[in-house]
Amino acid sequence: MTSPLPRVGIGSDVHPIEAGRPCWLAGLEWPGVDGCAGHSDGDVVAHALTDALLSAAGLGDIGGLLGTDDPRWAGARGAAVLGHVRETLAAAGWTIGNVAVQLIGNSPKLGPRRAEAEGVLTAVLGAPVSVTATTTDGLGLTGRGEGRAAVATALVVRSTAWSPVESIR
Ligand code: MG
Repeated sequence: MTSPLPRVGIGSDVHPIEAGRPCWLAGLEWPGVDGCAGHSDGDVVAHALTDALLSAAGLGDIGGLLGTDDPRWAGARGAAVLGHVRETLAAAGWTIGNVAVQLIGNSPKLGPRRAEAEGVLTAVLGAPVSVTATTTDGLGLTGRGEGRAAVATALVVRSTAWSPVESIR
């Protein structure tokens, strides 16, 4: 028996921009763009997706998955984190339906590389990934160029036998 209903989740992330740091975003490197500071590579798109997937599966959040200062994940690429999440969900009996993420910030301009980003993330997760972007019209930390944010949703479905007791956890 499989669960009749899929499950949705939500995730978000914010990182400060650091002048001169390589920019990794949506699984891609962005030459000539200042990157985000953080314990990992600062890929807010990948991290928001990670949290959305864990949320949908009821498996906590990225801090619990990776540990906040685990040296194994120092500088880790967002794509590597997403690959780990995919394995974690699969081990717990979840299949990813699709995910969507929106980058909030002034840079980089996503449009010219949207298809490339979606291709990379889709390959990592084995499910369709939609990547969009918006600005905040100069308002707030993203509008001032101090940082980047991302918000994501995910849908997952049961891939293994399901019991009613488990379904209410
Ligand atoms: Mg993060």
